[in-house]
Amino acid sequence: MKISRRNLIASTGLLLAASTPLRAASKKSVIVVGSGFAGLSAARALADQGADVQVLEARDRIGGRIFTSHLWPDLPADLGASWIHGVEGNPLTELADQAGVKRLVTRYESAIALDERGEEVDLTAAYDRADRLMQAARKAVEDEGKDKSLKAAITGTKGWRNANAKERRLLRHVVNGKVETEYGGDWSEESALAFDASEEFDGEDALPAGGYDQLIAFLARGLKIRTGAVVSEIRPEKKGISLTLRDGSVLEADHVVLTVPLGALKKGDIRFGAPLAKDRQAAIDVLGMGLLNKCFLRFEKPAWPTDVDWIEWVGPEDGVWAEWVSFAQAAKVPMLIGFHAGDQARAMEKLADADMVASAHDALKAMFGAAFPAPVAAQITRWAQDPFTHGSYSFNPVGARREDREALSGEEWEGRLIFAGEATEPDYWGTAHGAFLSGRTAARLLL
Ligand SMILES: Cc1cc2nc3c(=O)[nH]c(=O)nc-3n(C[C@H](O)[C@H](O)[C@H](O)COP(=O)(O)OP(=O)(O)OC[C@H]3O[C@@H](n4cnc5c(N)ncnc54)[C@H](O)[C@@H]3O)c2cc1C
Repeated sequence: MKISRRNLIASTGLLLAASTPLRAASKKSVIVVGSGFAGLSAARALADQGADVQVLEARDRIGGRIFTSHLWPDLPADLGASWIHGVEGNPLTELADQAGVKRLVTRYESAIALDERGEEVDLTAAYDRADRLMQAARKAVEDEGKDKSLKAAITGTKGWRNANAKERRLLRHVVNGKVETEYGGDWSEESALAFDASEEFDGEDALPAGGYDQLIAFLARGLKIRTGAVVSEIRPEKKGISLTLRDGSVLEADHVVLTVPLGALKKGDIRFGAPLAKDRQAAIDVLGMGLLNKCFLRFEKPAWPTDVDWIEWVGPEDGVWAEWVSFAQAAKVPMLIGFHAGDQARAMEKLADADMVASAHDALKAMFGAAFPAPVAAQITRWAQDPFTHGSYSFNPVGARREDREALSGEEWEGRLIFAGEATEPDYWGTAHGAFLSGRTAARLLL
């Protein structure tokens, strides 16, 4: 069992924040930019310590990449994060308990895999082989001493060169499921050395029953939050710090906690009134914003096996309709989600809704037979086109290292500006709990 440093912090963080008020904080005015898990956990901890905290959020809703759609009132759909990954020691498990939110477990072992013709296939050997290949690829890159893409590293191994077309197809499928869908980068972008340089909590993966937004609402209660406030500039002042909003208004505070996504930093959505530290700017440049999209399909009733959570399809195209999760077992509802990641996700975003649904239906017919019914409704995400995220979550492209997360996080301009957010968390980047922990870290820095 893995017991990480973060694990320890995570399990004690909430209690500490709630029980040891620090007087020094009470006079501080803090503006938190962003109302996702990072911003809200920072604001919550600071407000609980008596700081004067205001949260600014560009959207007309709070939660950021926690976004539960209630379009189908009986069937909430989490368009952003769905799972609490690893419930043991995960601070979001504690938060869910405090909020009285039950959890539904899904298991990766509860799965079937189908080939192009819909025949069931056993992928155990392909998974083992892919693991060995990835290890060999990493070892070769380590020996060469220069990072390269996972694709270049894998296709350079003897194991890949000796594999026939069918074996390669299976290996590629596994890389899509284990790396691209997990981390959001294409295998041609992911670092062979650091694509998986993160930690995990133990335990099952669980869906907050009824939607992730309940945790956000619980965390946000009583906080001063202004939505529709798009920050366009942040500037250090002689004393404190100022922010300019898109509407031209200017706000001042002693400190700003900035939790906008890496995608927004990379795009330069916010101007900085003084240069950022060199290694912070370098981290913004080298870290990548990955992409994972979801296509929610609702049916009259399940026409697929209801005793599995995951369905894999080794179809005609790499990474296209390759990963599905069924809600029939865990939540007892007739809903499937199809996932696309990396380059395939970028390409699929260009499809109109009707074309996307038709493409999904074609895949399901190939998997389960021509009589497979059409979905009665669909919801489709296009996170790359989201103007306040520009992607789904951060990943480690070629050349990125753990140190880049450390360089991105923390204080700028003598502590007037603090960076937080999913991408700044050195151990748990790319996750909801990582965002939550980064907010706690920012609050601790200020307190
Ligand atoms: C499709 C998808 C699936 C995911 N699945 C999971 C999962 O199952 N489990 C998991 O643990 N994690 C998952 N994640 C990752 C997780 O959702 C994120 O890591 C986490 O929610 C990020 O929180 P954050 O506070 O760092 O950023 P955000 O939630 O993005 O919050 C930042 C906020 O800043 C705001 N903002 C941006 N620009 C400005 C501006 N100029 N002015 C003011 N405000 C601004 C944004 O609107 C946003 O609300 C998923 C993410 C996506 C997109």
